[in-house]
Amino acid sequence: MSAYPDVMDTLVSLAKRRGFIFQSSEIYGGTGSVWDYGPLGVELKNNVKARWWQTMVRERDDVEGLDAAILMHPKVWEASGHVSGFSDPLVDCKACKARFRADKIGEAVCPRKPSKKPGEHGDCQLTEPRMFNLMFKTFMGPVEESAAVVYLRPETAQGIFVNFLNVQQATRQKVPFGIAQIGKAFRNEITPGNFTFRTREFEQMEMQFFVEPGTDMEWFERWKAARLEWHLGLGLSRDRLEFHQHEPNELAHYARAAFDINFDFGGTLGFQEIEGVHNRSDFDLKQHQEHSGKRLEYVDQAANKRYLPYVIETSVGADRVTLATLVNALREEVVPGETEGRTLLALHPAIAPIKAGVFPLTKKDGQPEMAEKLAAALRKKFPVFYDEAGAIGRRYRRQDEAGTPFGITIDPASTANDDVTIRFRDDMGQIRVSTSKVAQVIGDYLAADHATAEASKAGV
Ligand code: ATP
Repeated sequence: MSAYPDVMDTLVSLAKRRGFIFQSSEIYGGTGSVWDYGPLGVELKNNVKARWWQTMVRERDDVEGLDAAILMHPKVWEASGHVSGFSDPLVDCKACKARFRADKIGEAVCPRKPSKKPGEHGDCQLTEPRMFNLMFKTFMGPVEESAAVVYLRPETAQGIFVNFLNVQQATRQKVPFGIAQIGKAFRNEITPGNFTFRTREFEQMEMQFFVEPGTDMEWFERWKAARLEWHLGLGLSRDRLEFHQHEPNELAHYARAAFDINFDFGGTLGFQEIEGVHNRSDFDLKQHQEHSGKRLEYVDQAANKRYLPYVIETSVGADRVTLATLVNALREEVVPGETEGRTLLALHPAIAPIKAGVFPLTKKDGQPEMAEKLAAALRKKFPVFYDEAGAIGRRYRRQDEAGTPFGITIDPASTANDDVTIRFRDDMGQIRVSTSKVAQVIGDYLAADHATAEASKAGV
């Protein structure tokens, strides 16, 4: 049980009300564990992905980008071990028809009342576990026959492994170097749930870093530290993040070491994996070399040697980490001197979907005209929301809930003095700024990466 409260129900309703996340095909009763991102959600998730791409690809000269296709040759999944081994043990209850993952049955709850664990009601009839492959199957071409079976990829990594030599030769990168991509992955999860935490269609942000065997543990440690720092830079609180080391019995047979970065989602969910950092040895390249019959060795001309590189992988879910930023940011506060409390999303300004709200205090005396002109100018630089309807307090509250970090108010003095008030979402403090300086002042705040500065102070 976490020290933080369970905010999932509040978040699900806020996400729907404000247009962050909707249930897929809701008017038909919804599709199980598939979610759609609304206007605010798509901005937030895009900002998270852009930040990852910026840190992992653009700011480094030793990582290249890739966008491989979702459908791949079926042999890829034989080589990777997914056809034979990407399975979870499934247990059915014949009495209530519920399904559980045998390896997580200790955390599961029987759907019948009173609330008990699976097997604890007198008439529970649990079956023996049977293995269930998590890959979605479909057919390529018009004929539905076994020779035409293809899979929706359950991870993006294999697109990187099969393109290792293409990318290396095209870019003339020398080992050590990495390949990164962001893309959809699909898993027919037995027990999806907890909002967007575990879904059947999701996005991954994965990077495979190819290194010379023998240097792998040193690179593993470096990537572990770099990835924790990235999450801190996103604004996730330090005390809600921890490393979880895989014990020998949790380690995949080919893995030399694996750590998860866990985030505390609050309530009974508590600390859960948001990212995996793995030392995968040369397992994947070796498998693809054997199954394809193509040599995938790296030729180190300077040292006159050839070898299969080892791989350090960092794998993070775009949806899961976006959910973590929302959970981390949600606050319900009492406002001194006011009867109504406020709900706010204290999102890091860099990932907030809308950066500023622009509000004329009243709809007269040239205030709307001045405000609209300012909003139009600011919109060229960052997303802005213009709102002139209703009491100013309510307009602030609506933007607090949307996670908008700055509120700009045009009042009677503004038209006379050509200045405005900037209100800060988190502490509700205000400053007076001349109209011509607003873009620069907000731009400076957006550029200042407070959380990253905090992270370096913490000595990560
Ligand atoms: P879990 O144990 O939670 O099923 P995993 O160990 O299978 O996850 P990986 O295969 O290492 O996960 O995937 C890397 C990342 O992809 C995870 O840390 C998570 O952020 C994300 N991810 C994996 N499965 C899902 C899912 N069903 N829904 C949303 N995100 C997912």
